[in-house]
Amino acid sequence: MTSIFTQIIERKIPASIVYEDNSHIAFLDIYPFEKWHTLVVPKKEYETIMDMPEDEYLELQKIVLQIAKHYEKILWCGINVVQNNKAIAGQSVFHVHFHIIPRLDNSKPVFFESSEKYWENEVDIYREKLSLLNINS
Ligand code: 5GP
Repeated sequence: MTSIFTQIIERKIPASIVYEDNSHIAFLDIYPFEKWHTLVVPKKEYETIMDMPEDEYLELQKIVLQIAKHYEKILWCGINVVQNNKAIAGQSVFHVHFHIIPRLDNSKPVFFESSEKYWENEVDIYREKLSLLNINS
Protein backbone atom coordinates (compact mmCIF):
# COMPACT_ATOMS: atom_id res chain seq x y z
CA MET A 1 0.00 0.00 0.00
CA THR A 2 1.27 3.47 -0.87
CA SER A 3 1.99 6.02 1.85
CA ILE A 4 -0.31 8.93 2.60
CA PHE A 5 2.37 11.20 1.12
CA THR A 6 2.41 9.23 -2.14
CA GLN A 7 -1.34 9.71 -2.27
CA ILE A 8 -0.75 13.45 -1.97
CA ILE A 9 1.90 13.29 -4.71
CA GLU A 10 -0.57 11.42 -6.94
CA ARG A 11 -3.31 13.96 -6.09
CA LYS A 12 -5.49 11.21 -4.63
CA ILE A 13 -5.89 13.25 -1.47
CA PRO A 14 -5.71 17.03 -1.21
CA ALA A 15 -2.89 19.02 0.36
CA SER A 16 -1.74 22.58 0.30
CA ILE A 17 1.32 22.20 -1.91
CA VAL A 18 3.88 24.97 -1.70
CA TYR A 19 6.64 23.48 -3.85
CA GLU A 20 7.05 20.70 -6.37
CA ASP A 21 9.68 19.51 -8.82
CA ASN A 22 10.27 16.17 -10.57
CA SER A 23 11.66 14.48 -7.47
CA HIS A 24 10.31 16.40 -4.45
CA ILE A 25 7.16 17.88 -3.05
CA ALA A 26 6.49 20.20 -0.09
CA PHE A 27 3.10 20.81 1.49
CA LEU A 28 1.62 22.17 4.71
CA ASP A 29 1.33 19.71 7.58
CA ILE A 30 -2.28 18.88 8.34
CA TYR A 31 -1.67 19.12 12.11
CA PRO A 32 0.83 21.96 12.28
CA PHE A 33 2.95 22.80 15.29
CA GLU A 34 2.99 26.33 13.99
CA LYS A 35 1.57 28.17 11.02
CA TRP A 36 3.25 27.16 7.76
CA HIS A 37 4.64 23.97 9.27
CA THR A 38 5.72 22.29 6.05
CA LEU A 39 6.77 18.78 5.10
CA VAL A 40 9.40 18.21 2.42
CA VAL A 41 9.19 14.78 0.85
CA PRO A 42 11.06 12.91 -1.89
CA LYS A 43 8.64 11.54 -4.45
CA LYS A 44 10.32 8.13 -4.32
CA GLU A 45 8.85 6.34 -1.36
CA TYR A 46 11.81 5.57 0.90
CA GLU A 47 10.88 4.56 4.45
CA THR A 48 13.88 6.22 6.09
CA ILE A 49 16.91 8.20 5.00
CA MET A 50 19.00 5.05 5.47
CA ASP A 51 17.35 3.66 2.34
CA MET A 52 18.28 6.67 0.23
CA PRO A 53 21.23 6.86 -2.15
CA GLU A 54 23.56 9.64 -1.03
CA ASP A 55 22.98 11.83 -4.08
CA GLU A 56 19.20 11.75 -3.61
CA TYR A 57 19.57 12.51 0.10
CA LEU A 58 21.84 15.48 -0.62
CA GLU A 59 19.46 16.75 -3.29
CA LEU A 60 16.60 16.54 -0.77
CA GLN A 61 18.68 18.47 1.77
CA LYS A 62 19.29 21.16 -0.81
CA ILE A 63 15.55 21.61 -1.27
CA VAL A 64 14.96 21.61 2.51
CA LEU A 65 17.56 24.33 2.95
CA GLN A 66 16.15 26.42 0.10
CA ILE A 67 12.65 26.24 1.52
CA ALA A 68 13.85 27.02 5.06
CA LYS A 69 15.78 30.06 3.80
CA HIS A 70 12.80 31.16 1.73
CA TYR A 71 10.53 30.96 4.78
CA GLU A 72 13.03 32.85 6.89
CA LYS A 73 13.00 35.58 4.27
CA ILE A 74 9.24 35.89 3.85
CA LEU A 75 8.08 35.08 7.38
CA TRP A 76 10.81 36.98 9.24
CA CYS A 77 11.35 34.42 11.96
CA GLY A 78 13.57 31.57 13.09
CA ILE A 79 13.04 28.26 11.34
CA ASN A 80 13.40 24.79 12.84
CA VAL A 81 14.22 21.89 10.55
CA VAL A 82 13.50 18.47 11.98
CA GLN A 83 13.71 15.05 10.47
CA ASN A 84 10.71 12.96 11.49
CA ASN A 85 9.04 15.13 14.03
CA LYS A 86 8.39 12.38 16.52
CA ALA A 87 12.10 11.74 16.63
CA ILE A 88 11.86 10.58 20.21
CA ALA A 89 8.65 8.61 19.93
CA GLY A 90 9.24 7.36 16.38
CA GLN A 91 8.06 8.07 12.90
CA SER A 92 4.35 8.02 12.11
CA VAL A 93 4.49 8.22 8.31
CA PHE A 94 6.99 5.81 6.80
CA HIS A 95 7.90 7.91 3.82
CA VAL A 96 10.99 10.09 4.31
CA HIS A 97 10.12 13.68 5.22
CA PHE A 98 11.62 16.72 6.83
CA HIS A 99 9.60 19.16 8.91
CA ILE A 100 10.17 22.87 8.44
CA ILE A 101 8.62 24.64 11.40
CA PRO A 102 8.67 28.44 11.59
CA ARG A 103 8.96 29.94 15.07
CA LEU A 104 6.66 32.84 14.44
CA ASP A 105 6.62 34.27 17.93
CA ASN A 106 9.66 32.46 19.31
CA SER A 107 7.54 31.26 22.21
CA LYS A 108 6.22 27.78 22.80
CA PRO A 109 4.87 26.17 19.65
CA VAL A 110 1.14 26.36 19.18
CA PHE A 111 -0.59 23.04 18.60
CA PHE A 112 -3.43 23.50 16.17
CA GLU A 113 -6.24 21.03 16.23
CA SER A 114 -6.32 21.18 12.49
CA SER A 115 -4.61 23.28 9.89
CA GLU A 116 -8.01 24.10 8.42
CA LYS A 117 -8.35 26.65 11.20
CA TYR A 118 -5.89 28.92 9.49
CA TRP A 119 -5.92 27.56 5.96
CA GLU A 120 -9.44 28.76 5.47
CA ASN A 121 -8.62 32.38 6.03
CA GLU A 122 -5.00 32.79 5.25
CA VAL A 123 -3.66 30.21 2.92
CA ASP A 124 -4.90 31.97 -0.19
CA ILE A 125 -3.32 35.20 0.92
CA TYR A 126 0.01 33.53 1.58
CA ARG A 127 0.01 30.93 -1.12
CA GLU A 128 1.57 33.22 -3.65
CA LYS A 129 4.19 34.39 -1.16
CA LEU A 130 4.92 30.87 -0.01
CA SER A 131 5.03 29.46 -3.48
CA LEU A 132 8.53 28.31 -4.04
CA LEU A 133 8.15 29.12 -7.65
CA ASN A 134 9.58 32.36 -6.25
CA ILE A 135 12.31 30.51 -4.41
CA ASN A 136 15.13 32.30 -6.13
CA SER A 137 13.57 35.74 -6.20
P1 5GP B 1 6.22 12.11 11.72
O1 5GP B 1 5.83 11.91 13.11
O2 5GP B 1 6.16 10.84 10.90
O3 5GP B 1 7.55 12.78 11.60
O4 5GP B 1 5.19 13.15 11.13
C1 5GP B 1 4.28 12.94 10.08
C2 5GP B 1 3.55 14.23 9.85
O5 5GP B 1 2.67 14.06 8.76
C3 5GP B 1 2.70 14.71 11.03
O6 5GP B 1 3.15 15.98 11.46
C4 5GP B 1 1.28 14.75 10.48
O7 5GP B 1 0.52 15.82 10.96
C5 5GP B 1 1.50 14.82 8.99
N1 5GP B 1 0.43 14.21 8.21
C6 5GP B 1 -0.09 12.98 8.41
N2 5GP B 1 -1.07 12.73 7.51
C7 5GP B 1 -1.15 13.85 6.73
C8 5GP B 1 -1.99 14.19 5.62
O8 5GP B 1 -2.86 13.43 5.17
N3 5GP B 1 -1.79 15.41 5.06
C9 5GP B 1 -0.84 16.29 5.53
N4 5GP B 1 -0.75 17.47 4.91
N5 5GP B 1 -0.04 15.98 6.57
C10 5GP B 1 -0.20 14.78 7.16
